Amino acid sequence: MSAPAAQRVRHLIGEEWVDASDGGEFETRDPHDGSLLGTVARGTVEDGRAAVSAARTAFDEGPWPRMTPKERAQVLHAVADAVDAHRDELALLETRDGGKTITQSLHAEIPRVALNLRFFADYAAMAANEAYPDGGLLSYTLYPPAGVVSAISPWNAPLMLATWKIAPALAFGNTVVLKPAPHTPLTAARFASLALEAGLPEGVLNVVHGFGGDEVAGPLTSDPRVDRITFTGSSATGAAVLAAAAANHTPVSAELGGKSANIVFADADLDVAVPQSIRAIFAGNGQVCLAGSRLLVQNSVRDEFLARFTAEAEQLAVGDPKEHSTFLGPLIEQRHLDKVHSYVELAQTEGATVVTGGERLGGELAGGFHYPPTVLTGLTNASRTAREEIFGPVVTVLGFDTEEEALGIANDSPYGLAGMLFTQNLDRAHRMAARWRAGTVWINTFFERDLRLPFGGEGISGVGREGGRYSREFFTEPRAVMLRLRDQVLR
Ligand code: NAD
Repeated sequence: MSAPAAQRVRHLIGEEWVDASDGGEFETRDPHDGSLLGTVARGTVEDGRAAVSAARTAFDEGPWPRMTPKERAQVLHAVADAVDAHRDELALLETRDGGKTITQSLHAEIPRVALNLRFFADYAAMAANEAYPDGGLLSYTLYPPAGVVSAISPWNAPLMLATWKIAPALAFGNTVVLKPAPHTPLTAARFASLALEAGLPEGVLNVVHGFGGDEVAGPLTSDPRVDRITFTGSSATGAAVLAAAAANHTPVSAELGGKSANIVFADADLDVAVPQSIRAIFAGNGQVCLAGSRLLVQNSVRDEFLARFTAEAEQLAVGDPKEHSTFLGPLIEQRHLDKVHSYVELAQTEGATVVTGGERLGGELAGGFHYPPTVLTGLTNASRTAREEIFGPVVTVLGFDTEEEALGIANDSPYGLAGMLFTQNLDRAHRMAARWRAGTVWINTFFERDLRLPFGGEGISGVGREGGRYSREFFTEPRAVMLRLRDQVLR
C-alpha cells in the first residue's frame, strides 16, 4: 500500500466543503515518522454554529427524519458497502494518522465501522414497539428521532468510535454534527465524502474539525438547537461537556476513561490467561479505554504467571504500524509520551519495580513516539499509578489471596468501565460478575462485543449506555400513545 499525499481537510457543512471561518488551520502528522499528512480547518465557534444550523435545517425540513427506518437502512447499507470497498484506503489513513497497527485497522476497526452501520440500520428497521391491547384501550410506544445530535469522538479508535455514534443516530432518523479528535481527522473526512456519494442526503451528516469548548466544540455542547450529545473521551472533558449541556437540559451519553482490573485466579488456564492479558493491556498500545491496566494475580500463581507474561511482553514487536508484524505502533503524540513516561517515574517514587520496559525507545524508532511494553510491580492499589488512567502500554501488577480481596481491589477505583476475569470456576465467575462495579465484565476472554448489549461505564467512566435498545432510547424521544375504543374488543 502506498502512502497517501498530504491533503487539505475541510469541514463538511450541509453539502459544502468549507475552510474555517477565519481561515485557521492545524496540522496532522504521522506519529511514527512525523511526516505531514494534512492541513486541517481549525473550526471556530462560528463554524460550530453553522454546522448545527445545517443539521437543524436538514432535520426540520429534509427527507431523512421522514423516511421509514427501512428506507434509511438502505442508505446506511450503501454507506457500509462503500466503507468495505475502501477498506484498504481507510485502514491506511487510520494507521498513518493515529499510529494504530495496520493489522488492527484492516482486520478490526474498519470492518467494525461497516458493522456499526449495518447493525444499527437493521436494528432500527426491525426493532419492535411495545403495544398493550387492554379491552377498550390500546396503548403503544412511538420512537420518533430526537433531532440534532452532536457526536464528539476521541483519537484512539477514530472512525470506529465515530460510527458507533453516527450509525445509531442516523438509523433512528436524527441528523448529526460530528467532531473528530484533532489528532485524527482524516478518516472522518473521507468517510463523510463516501457517505454523500453513497446517497446520504445533504446536511444529515456534518463534520467539523478542531478543538474544545472555546472553539468549534463550544456550540456542539451549548447550542440549544442540539437535542442530544454523544461524547467519548476523557473523564475530565466529559465533566466539562456535561456542565455545558446542563444549561439547556440537553441529554448526554458520555463514554469516558477507565482503569480496569484484570483478575487471574490460580485455577485459570494460563494458556488463555497470559495471551489475553497481554492483549488486554498492550493491544492498541494501552491507548484503549477498556485496557486491563491493573493486573491482579493470585499470589499462589503470581511468579509463574508473571514470568510468562513478562517474557511474552518482551517478544512483542514495537515499530512501524504499517508493518503487518508490528504489535505496538507509536503513541499518539510527544505530550502523551511524556505523560506515560511521567507515570513510570511516579511509580518508581511510589516504590515500584520496573520489571520490563520503562524507557522511551530510540535508535531506528527515535523519530516516532515509541514506548515499550512496561510491567510494574511493588505497588498497592492506593498508589496514584494504580488509580489514575495512564492510557499507555503500562501495567501495574498487584497480588491477592482471596476472591473477596480481589473484588475489593477491583471495585476500589473511581472508574467503573470494564473488568476481566480468568478462572475455571464458573460459580465464582458469575458471583463476581454480579458484584463487579463495571459496565462490562469479560470472563476468560477480552474485548469481544455484541452490539445488542449495553456499553458504558459506572463512576467517572461514564453516564448512560449505548448499544441495541439502549441506543434507541437515547437517540429517540419515546412517546406513549393511548387510544380509547368504543368497544372492549382488544385482548
Ligand atoms: P479528550 O477528552 O481529550 O477529547 C475527546 C474529544 O473531546 C476530542 O474530540 C476533543 O477535541 C473534544 N473536546 C475537548 N474539549 C472539549 C470541550 N470542552 N467540549 C467538547 N469537546 C471537547 O479525550 P482523548 O484524549 O481524545 O481520548 C482519550 C480518552 O478517551 C481516554 O480517557 C479514554 O479512556 C477515553 N475513551 C473512552 C472510551 C469509552 O468508550 N468509554 C472509548 C475510547 C476512549
